[in-house]
Amino acid sequence: SATTSKTARLLEKITSAQAKYNIFTSIRKTDQLRDVGTTTAAIKDNICTIEEPTTSASGILKNYISPFEATVVTKMKQFGTTIVGKTNLDEFGMGSANTNSIFGTTYNPLFPNEKRIPGGSSGGSAAAVAAGVVDYAIGTDTGGSVRVPGAFCGVYGLKPSYGRISRWGVLAYAQSLDTVGVLAKDLDLLEKVYYKLDGYDIKDPTSLSPEYRKQITKLQETHKDKENLRIGIPEEFILDLLSDKVKSGLIQSLIKLLEAGHEIVPISIPNIRYAIYVYFTIASSEASSNLARYDGIRYGVRSSEDINNYAKTRTEGFGKIVQDRLILGNYNLSSDSFEKNFLKAIQVRNELRVQFNKVFKFPNVFNSSREVGDIDFILSPTTTSTAPLAEDFENQTIPEGYAMDILAAPASLAGLPALSVPWYVDDDIPIGLQIVSQYGNDAQLFTAARLLR
Ligand code: GLN
Repeated sequence: SATTSKTARLLEKITSAQAKYNIFTSIRKTDQLRDVGTTTAAIKDNICTIEEPTTSASGILKNYISPFEATVVTKMKQFGTTIVGKTNLDEFGMGSANTNSIFGTTYNPLFPNEKRIPGGSSGGSAAAVAAGVVDYAIGTDTGGSVRVPGAFCGVYGLKPSYGRISRWGVLAYAQSLDTVGVLAKDLDLLEKVYYKLDGYDIKDPTSLSPEYRKQITKLQETHKDKENLRIGIPEEFILDLLSDKVKSGLIQSLIKLLEAGHEIVPISIPNIRYAIYVYFTIASSEASSNLARYDGIRYGVRSSEDINNYAKTRTEGFGKIVQDRLILGNYNLSSDSFEKNFLKAIQVRNELRVQFNKVFKFPNVFNSSREVGDIDFILSPTTTSTAPLAEDFENQTIPEGYAMDILAAPASLAGLPALSVPWYVDDDIPIGLQIVSQYGNDAQLFTAARLLR
């Protein structure tokens, strides 16, 4: 019958993509894929489902099965998506290449003949979309983890405003930065899925409240985009680090926008310069607190030698990168460093928010002074280059690896919505262009992305 052949085709795609690119941490059983719905999707394995383990690609949660499912997962089922499985990631979302996983590296389907990274940490989700296995995939973005893999795999990658999509059932990495995002090849589908998932959730204490949602909707009604937009290019984003291809792509896109009658305006957001340092200070600190719950008592794996304390469990369960981050985070929160590093980072982050508020035409509902600027949206590349070879990435130093998020982290720190859009320069390997809007104004990302099509 038609259904069975649909299932067979889907299974065939999953199996062959898995063999080539190592995309999934678990794949649903054939009988769970019997009735293929209107859309198919994959879910990053740091989001709770009840059908299979939720591992976060960590030894400490190997075989852990959640007793409940995340709000996003329930919503996806409600609107008729067939979930095919869970996708690979960097352990607990810590990484930019998807090389840091107990399941091994995921490879980038844009390069079937080379071993290139898909970007991280939602590398499996981006690869599942890029390989054509699913219509869309869910990822999480704390400091670039949906946008960076979106850019490297040539698909749209959306990080919504902080608090718009529920985090209930999403394993916390850095709770003041974590967002749930969506990856897709098709912009219209991405937009549809976003609107289905966007909504207040009483179970998530950081969910954007119905009152603020109403205020934003009202502002959106009075701030309809004009014919001629003012597009801001922060000078802090024009880095020597940008590859020639990324530079050409950015310039081509600016010419297209100019030719369509829009204005390109150089702007300055000085604290973008410090964003990457501030990001890693805050993210590691929050992680050291969030990951304290993995003690072998309440969740997941427990070391057989762990009799009197849980240090053994944590030493065996966490990978090296996670351990480094936890040590860094604990240090940042210690009396030696709290004021000097952690509070300083919070202060620079707050200033960054104020600087963004001064730029956008659209007001920030959380900014009581309602000070605004005259820019409609911000444009930059998403990453400084296209996807590196896995071996080149492995040979990088830790700070070089951190620098992968240099263009993505600012929007995360300010909680702003951002979308990575594929842009083709001269061959079939696109770069990612990043659109950033004011807090709450996620809708504008889609209209802005259409200007680039
Ligand atoms: N690469 C960044 C990190 O390792 C961002 C990851 C993410 O957004 N989850 O923290």
